Amino acid sequence: VSILGSSRSSVPEMAKNSPTIFDRILDGSIKADIVYEDPECLAFRDVDPQAPKHLLVIPRRRITMLEDAQNTDQELLGHLMLVVKKVAEQEDLTDGYRVVINNGPDGGQSVYHLHIHLLGGRQLNWPPG
Ligand code: 5GP
Repeated sequence: VSILGSSRSSVPEMAKNSPTIFDRILDGSIKADIVYEDPECLAFRDVDPQAPKHLLVIPRRRITMLEDAQNTDQELLGHLMLVVKKVAEQEDLTDGYRVVINNGPDGGQSVYHLHIHLLGGRQLNWPPG
């Protein structure tokens, strides 16, 4: 048994345990431009858009990061992906779009409440930076 325990994550426990800005969007104490909501999730415009259309889809129930998702989250994760598709249709992204999850420090994750980025409205480059 590793002395590091079951998680190899280098994400500080504080980041995983502290409330995030998305809690405040979910409880309405911070305004967001919400484009879709249902009992499981919320979709809103990113405050610092990296493309003409940049939206975030988040579960209401906090999963800190993809790495912490469990088998029991399977239905919720699938639902989030279908909501991304629905929002892309709503936003008229008929020429395509990109779907991104930044996971952990190397992935560039800054908010530790799982979210899916939906980016579109221009030709996106590959590989990303
Ligand atoms: P990450 O870097 O964790 O993958 O993505 C977090 C995203 O949340 C960033 O794209 C950032 O611009 C967005 N964001 C951070 N704070 C706020 C906020 O208060 N409102 C909105 N709408 N987006 C935010």
